[in-house]
Amino acid sequence: MFAKIRNHLTFVYATVMVCFLLAFIVASYTGLVWVLYQEEQQDVEAFAREEAHEHLELLRQRKLSVAVPNMEDNEQNDGKLFHYAFDVNGQQISSSEPAREVRAAMLTRIQNWEGVDGQAVLTKVYLPGGEKNYFMLCGIKVYDGGQALGTVFVGKDITSYYIMLKRLFLVLSLVCLLFLVIAVFAGHILAGRVIVPIKNAFTRQREFVADASHELRTPLSVMLASVDAVQSDDENTMSRFSGQVLEDMKSEIKRMTKIVGDLLTLARADAGATTIIKEKFDINMVAGKVVRSFQPIATEKRVSLEFIRTGELFIQADIERISQLLLILIDNAIKYVQHEGEVILTIKSMPGSKGHITISVQDNGVGIPEKDQKLIFERFYRIDKVRSRESGGTGLGLSIAKWIVEVHGGTIRVESASGIGSTFIVDLPS
Ligand code: ADP
Repeated sequence: MFAKIRNHLTFVYATVMVCFLLAFIVASYTGLVWVLYQEEQQDVEAFAREEAHEHLELLRQRKLSVAVPNMEDNEQNDGKLFHYAFDVNGQQISSSEPAREVRAAMLTRIQNWEGVDGQAVLTKVYLPGGEKNYFMLCGIKVYDGGQALGTVFVGKDITSYYIMLKRLFLVLSLVCLLFLVIAVFAGHILAGRVIVPIKNAFTRQREFVADASHELRTPLSVMLASVDAVQSDDENTMSRFSGQVLEDMKSEIKRMTKIVGDLLTLARADAGATTIIKEKFDINMVAGKVVRSFQPIATEKRVSLEFIRTGELFIQADIERISQLLLILIDNAIKYVQHEGEVILTIKSMPGSKGHITISVQDNGVGIPEKDQKLIFERFYRIDKVRSRESGGTGLGLSIAKWIVEVHGGTIRVESASGIGSTFIVDLPS
């Protein structure tokens, strides 16, 4: 149980830490990308305005049909910043070109330009090898007194930033992974520290329940014996009222003895102090005995109690605990079935799965609403407290049944519908 709580806490701690870390990484990475984008965009737009201004005179001359030679100033260009200038007829009049491998692709992009005038945008260019290059590209129209003279395109190769961001992303992902490992480790240690006081309190409470139940057993037996003695001694002289009081006392003492016994069983089970002695026995024979012991009660309630058996069925288990399990399930079935109802116990080896047996206790009683079906195995959980109390229930029977099944490596479940009946199905390794 504590290992489960510790694992759960570790998971919660690690998730919280990783969520914070992820949020931090995503926020800082997105912020960095945004700042870089803005900066490059503004840079290229300023460069475009500058180039447009510089080309104004050249384009004027071109307009006046003055022969202007095409200008190329690739010498001062490292290929990162480049420009192309075109007159109104689309004739290139000047350029400082980008890297050789992207020139053709860049010209195609410029010829099909649909961008907003003066606004730089991120443009992807594919190289012949399939490699991607990133550019910030801006086209700006050059006017002279309201008359268009041509267009200047400027661009900047920002592939190196892209590569840097990609590497940064990889490093951050690795950091995140590393922190995940550290978070799980730290979470596990922290969770271990947190559950120490809970563990101590739980142990103290468990010891208290075990000690109290143990100590209460002797006085309860003495009380029961005393009531028996008074009843047999004063049988003839006692008034009807006193007789009734003694009878009520006796039934309350029996009920208390049962609760104390059940509590002691569970407290010992929690502490791991119960020894399970496994031996090989015929479960059908044991079940036959339990069914026979219930026959008088079933007959009194006019309930048909049937046991469907299939010859000998050997199982390696604790005979006392398996009897107790059958006792709890059959007792409940008879308790929660109406007069003239039906209870059927079936024990068979599971088809298709060697080494497993299935015990099912079926009744056509009150049934269990779906919302309660998981909860009935919890301690002191009773659907109808008054009815359970009247029929001598403690709300601990199914918790003990579940413990017995689990300590034998099996499972228990219920299939039920309100007003139709319930079937408790136990699967046990044999
Ligand atoms: P109790 O001593 O009250 O019977 P259990 O732990 O054995 O305690 O059962 C828990 C609750 O589950 C019961 O109070 C009852 O409401 C419900 N229950 C158990 N068995 C049956 C059954 N066969 N049919 C209907 N309800 C049942």
